[in-house]
Amino acid sequence: MQVVDFYCDQVLSGKVSVQKLVETEHVLAFHHTQPYWPVHLVIIPKKHIGSLATVEGSDFPIVDEMLRVAADLCRQVTGEHGGCRLSTNSGDYQSTKHLHFYIHHGARLKNEDGSPATGSQS
Ligand SMILES: [Zn+2]
Repeated sequence: MQVVDFYCDQVLSGKVSVQKLVETEHVLAFHHTQPYWPVHLVIIPKKHIGSLATVEGSDFPIVDEMLRVAADLCRQVTGEHGGCRLSTNSGDYQSTKHLHFYIHHGARLKNEDGSPATGSQS
């Protein structure tokens, strides 16, 4: 299977334009380009970090910055919609091997493979 790093190859390179929400020195947050939920936000580090499972000591300040951005966005989505979920994947659960946090709200619209979701909230 070909490993594709959508965030480095497409987003951070500028090949795909995204609707930015927050940009800090090390972190970018934007609306998911093909959302799985009615509200689906993505938070990524600007430098390549594989996942939480591979974070190294010197990268934790960047993860901290991601969490600060996530806190602001959680506050906004909770204020606007009443609640949200923060999630991240690693290893086989990761379709893109670049650390990313999702903030989402609402019933799932579709699965990772694009098939219609069956009503799960997660
Ligand atoms: Zn990457």
